Amino acid sequence: MTIYTGPVFEMARRQFDQIANHIEMPDDERERVFYPKRAVTVSCPIHRDDGSVTVFQGYRVQHHLTLGPTKGGTRFAKTVDIGEVAALAVWMSWKCALAGLPYGGAKGGITVDPRALSSRELEALSRRYIQEMIPFVGPHTDVMAPDMGTDEQVMAWFMDTYSMYQGRTVTEIVTGKPVSAGGTEGRREATGRGVAHLVGRALDRIGLSPQRSTVIVQGFGNVGSVTACALAERGVKVIGVSDHTASYYSPGGLDLSELQRHVACKGSLHGFSSELSIEPEDLMAQRCDILVPAAVERVITHENVSRLRCRILAEGANGPTTPEADEILDQRRDEIFVLPDILCNAGGVIVSYFEWVQGLQQLFWAENEVLSRLHGLLDRTFDQVMARSDRDRVSHRTAALAIGVERVRDAKRTRGLFP
Ligand code: NAD
Repeated sequence: MTIYTGPVFEMARRQFDQIANHIEMPDDERERVFYPKRAVTVSCPIHRDDGSVTVFQGYRVQHHLTLGPTKGGTRFAKTVDIGEVAALAVWMSWKCALAGLPYGGAKGGITVDPRALSSRELEALSRRYIQEMIPFVGPHTDVMAPDMGTDEQVMAWFMDTYSMYQGRTVTEIVTGKPVSAGGTEGRREATGRGVAHLVGRALDRIGLSPQRSTVIVQGFGNVGSVTACALAERGVKVIGVSDHTASYYSPGGLDLSELQRHVACKGSLHGFSSELSIEPEDLMAQRCDILVPAAVERVITHENVSRLRCRILAEGANGPTTPEADEILDQRRDEIFVLPDILCNAGGVIVSYFEWVQGLQQLFWAENEVLSRLHGLLDRTFDQVMARSDRDRVSHRTAALAIGVERVRDAKRTRGLFP
């Protein structure tokens, strides 16, 4: 039992143990590689619009600082707790190492439903959270980014607050900022575009053409909606989408522009259509070529995994598949091509890395340069995972995690143990 104990952290631990066994990591190295370096908990009081005061709990977990500063998103959600944040920080470490980025993993969050706050309250909470974190973060210590429930505006408030305390503008403290406040072209779309690019590679490998393929996307936020649009641009037919309020399915194809207009106007998919509505569980079980979970963790479980009828499972979300479900997926390896989360959604952190580099150098790239470098890094990573999976005869997830974990382990071994 540790402060992190909980279902999501147990999932990260179980996954790590499997990989550690696979790469035959000695027992005395395991705790050092797995357990987070630091965990910070802060209370964030804010004035509500009605004059009352509410205190929210905020967290930041930095997994390791062996390869450089830590890097990771900030999640505002009702479900956030220290165990979930720690698990996400651990996964970020394997993801950064897999992509060859000079970072350890981090994650942060506040236990809050951001939709229940006014815009002024959200700004107050964002500013208070980063202000509480100032002693623990910095452009060379820990760099934040958006995640579920946070966006470019929240990053701009983080950057502004941090900069006010430093007495100068420090754009490199966060990534995922608006371009008007020192962000990079292409960051907002990076994760979804990366997912679509890798789905293209997977389609190639299994010999399917995008024009003859269909996709169902769970979660219609940043990652889900951009993935859907980027795949539609490649000719893939979008036949299902969902968010936390509604799920829609149409074998003939959904009108993405209409869906986007509806979400922009109403804030969610709720009320888009009554004829196309489907139960969320049934949506995941519809036949499709590509299934993209792009919402929350642990949605593919031992209970529903055998109902999946997709050819490619592209994990846009972090941790959407439980280890029990993963064992079953492994047995269906010839049927379902898995793009595991640490590979599939790595586009976000890769372009965050580009944004950080540009901010440090004060030298900004055009969007086509960002995209071509993104595709180059994703292709290299995809090829490494495929080669490792073929060589070791293991699943893509095991291959990807083994590469990431090994790189962190090797860096720790080479640097040695101080003092
Ligand atoms: P977001 O807040 O923009 O969107 C999340 C979406 O999921 C919303 O549409 C929400 O309604 C929906 N959702 C929530 N619970 C749901 C449920 N039970 N069923 C169906 N839909 C549900 O968040 P995002 O930035 O798009 O992140 C989505 C996932 O992708 C998260 O797991 C996040 O960690 C991961 N991710 C995000 C990025 C990024 O750059 N934003 C990068 C890597 C990974």
